[in-house]
Amino acid sequence: MNMNNVTIYSTLTRKKERLNPITDGEIKFYSCGPTTYDFLHVGNGRALVVGDLIHRILKSLGYKVTFVRNFTDVDDKIINRAKEKGVPALEHADIFVNECKKDMHSLMMIDPTFTPKVSETIPEIIEMIERLIAKGFAYVVNGEVLYHVPRFESYGKLSKKDLEKLQHGIRVEVDDYKKHPSDFVLWKPAKGGEEEPSWDSPWGKGRPGWHIECSAMSYKFLGPAIDIHHGGIDLIFPHHENEIAQSEAANGVNFCSYWCHNEFVNFGTEKMSKSLGNVVTIRNFIEKFGGIVLRYIFVSSHYRTKLDWSDKIIQKSIEELERIHQFVIEFEQININISKDNNNNSSSSSSNNVLEKIKQELANDFNTPKALAHFFTLIRDFRRERDEKDHKDHASFSAQALSEIKEIIDFVNNSMGIIHPNPASLLNELNHAKRELTATAANATTAAVNSIDEQEIQKMIDERNLAKKEKNWAKADEIRNTLKQNKIILKDSPDGKTTWSYEP
Ligand code: AMP
Ligand code: ZN
Repeated sequence: MNMNNVTIYSTLTRKKERLNPITDGEIKFYSCGPTTYDFLHVGNGRALVVGDLIHRILKSLGYKVTFVRNFTDVDDKIINRAKEKGVPALEHADIFVNECKKDMHSLMMIDPTFTPKVSETIPEIIEMIERLIAKGFAYVVNGEVLYHVPRFESYGKLSKKDLEKLQHGIRVEVDDYKKHPSDFVLWKPAKGGEEEPSWDSPWGKGRPGWHIECSAMSYKFLGPAIDIHHGGIDLIFPHHENEIAQSEAANGVNFCSYWCHNEFVNFGTEKMSKSLGNVVTIRNFIEKFGGIVLRYIFVSSHYRTKLDWSDKIIQKSIEELERIHQFVIEFEQININISKDNNNNSSSSSSNNVLEKIKQELANDFNTPKALAHFFTLIRDFRRERDEKDHKDHASFSAQALSEIKEIIDFVNNSMGIIHPNPASLLNELNHAKRELTATAANATTAAVNSIDEQEIQKMIDERNLAKKEKNWAKADEIRNTLKQNKIILKDSPDGKTTWSYEP
């Protein structure tokens, strides 16, 4: 494996491409960060962890990565929330920047090179807007600056949208001060009000529109041309399309070589999102199950596949983390017991090429699930080899073999961040997580039966009778309790029949 073999799926070309950085061995990487108006949900968590994975994997494969992830701390949602609370918007945003940092820490994310906030990038944003006006790509109407979309010929190249078709979809009369219905805001005039943050500019007091911040921050820290840009797929249009239009018009060079987008976390058939109200916050999840369990859910599914939220994926994550950490403990025990002057230099058959295979999978469009599959093969083979050695009373693993396995464990951890520094304490936490999951499942059953009708009650009684027949007393009791919580009482008669009634 060498650095020339990395491929990335780019949304720009809709195919996998060989990674060919602007500067050999170096990667300039930008990922769109969160808007800090509330606690983040696990869908946002996926975007954060995927950004972290791209960063870690490229570093582990030998690149020098300069990674920028922003915080959007100036935004309508923040201003509205701050108004409700009667606090200044920047103060409100800062509270959630700090909460978000706590989540990131629990998710075992490593620090980017730069984490700028909009409120700290205003001079650079104004400077870029001035350049866009000077070059004829933007115009001013009553203190508002707008980007003139038709002026940028390749608009639509990322989202594959046709400007003509876009025009038909937009009601012109609403925004009749715009030269074109697709024109978007670069600078908004201040409406006044204590809570609303505003800054002086050549166009009067105001604040930036959303899209310009990423173009300005990217330019400030990475220069006019970058290698990789990442965000959730909902950002392809209009956010990333507009970033391209702004950056390429202002700087006159191709903005970004590879565009990476992670798929959604769905709840039922819909995207998990605050506005749909179907969210699980990262904080709630972490309190119940721990950050590493959430991180592992994202690492063990490929970033371009949809992730349907369910108890099953939580359970799978807990079980696989258990297997990994039990192995790490077993390995450490053997490693400590081997004398360092053991001069048996043979390799372990279990580590056979595994490191190379893991690297190849990660280099293949960040295929973390396949990389993990090789790691699980190593775990299985290691145990088999150990048991055979014990059985035949053979000498233990050679120092060479152990150092190869150690190298694999370290690589897996550096590139994917899934091994806890204290495996024994993690196993305890995972036991707690399992108990929480059982309790959650029971609560879900309760919630489901809150609206139960008579037919469903009968179905549950039948299920309980079957459980009793199979001597599954725990399940039988659970069903009886669930019904009791819904004020439904069961009565078992001696002839084996069960009747029910509502609690008086
Ligand atoms: P926002 O704070 O809404 O700007 O979102 C921050 C990041 O989370 C963006 O990259 C979004 O694309 C991403 N995101 C939001 N909702 C989801 C979801 N349900 N699944 C995956 N990513 C999401
Ligand atoms: Zn952005």
